[in-house]
Amino acid sequence: MTQPPLERAHIGIIGAGQLGQMIALAGLALGHEFTFLDPSHRPPAARLGRHIQAEFDDQSALERLAVECDVLTFEFENVPVSALEPISRQQTLYPDTRVLRIAQDRLQEKAFLAQLGIPVAPHAAVDSLDDLQAAIAQIGLPALLKTRRLGYDGKGQVVLRHPTDAPAAWDAVQSQPCVLEAFVPFSREVSLIAVRSRVGEQSFYPLGQNRHAQGILHRTDVPTNDPAQPQAEDYARRVLTALDYVGVLAIEFFEVDGQLMANEMAPRVHNSGHWTQNGAATSQFENHVRAILGWPLGSTERTRASVMLNLIGRLPDARPLLALPGTHWHDYGKEPRSGRKLGHLNITSANEADCRAVAARAEALIFGNPGSAV
Ligand code: AMP
Repeated sequence: MTQPPLERAHIGIIGAGQLGQMIALAGLALGHEFTFLDPSHRPPAARLGRHIQAEFDDQSALERLAVECDVLTFEFENVPVSALEPISRQQTLYPDTRVLRIAQDRLQEKAFLAQLGIPVAPHAAVDSLDDLQAAIAQIGLPALLKTRRLGYDGKGQVVLRHPTDAPAAWDAVQSQPCVLEAFVPFSREVSLIAVRSRVGEQSFYPLGQNRHAQGILHRTDVPTNDPAQPQAEDYARRVLTALDYVGVLAIEFFEVDGQLMANEMAPRVHNSGHWTQNGAATSQFENHVRAILGWPLGSTERTRASVMLNLIGRLPDARPLLALPGTHWHDYGKEPRSGRKLGHLNITSANEADCRAVAARAEALIFGNPGSAV
């Protein structure tokens, strides 16, 4: 539904982690104010606005957020839709609950993408050990068993290599509804950050090329003139239009024989778009704010060669990294914990070769320091 644009707004964000923090950093500069709903004590974004400390399904807290704010959004897509539906009738929520419903369930998401003609990995629904055995016979091995709900950063996933792995895999996912997905022999992983505003304007950032370790994003490069860009934009356009989508949307793809296959979509700002803070004309965070308010979108052009390195588990010393040319330090203010995203380093340069050379030196500093990245 298209509504009149708002001036200087009070924006409510469900979730107050680093994504909420970076949306607020961009939005404060535009003159907006923020209230966050998050169950944690002193979450990262709470430093930038009012914090309602409550569970994500706390109806009265959600109502308070809806009453106090002019528009609502989220940084975390695993919020129970049943809790958001009542408040979305009372206050504008972008992206909407229909989008959330699809993005929260891997099976629904794959069906939705496939119905738009977007290739996805061969897969089958698994609700029992018998289903799993039948799915293995249908799809073959190796394959990944993924929980339909609440999976992120490789969590809730088990690799199966042999039919005898089935009972242990089914135990490992604690008998939750799953999909079995064929193991895709991809040549690379890329993601597209797309944005569509409430007045229907849309724009796409250059593809990010992603490297994961243990299912967690470690590094994003931003190639110039990526040959996969037109296909990624075509697929993203289909999704944005089908959902009458408002806000930033990320779609992760595998590339196989030069063709894209969608892995998953995230209805929010995304880790693989963090490079846009320093390497694009307008960051994904600012464009998300502009989009949900119906403001004109900013240019998504890449202005500098860019690499993003995630800082995971423990923060390295910032000083030697910041002494490298073109580096930008982003610290989320979180307590260290193994496997936890604590910050990222953006590296920008006027040319590709210099950018990659600095990234190599930065990686040596980050990973060469024992325990600095897990
Ligand atoms: P996901 O949580 O689905 O994004 O998976 C995390 C990472 O696991 C992906 O970025 C891939 O590196 C890997 N992965 C997930 N699904 C597959 C698959 N079907 N085939 C090969 N690798 C996969």
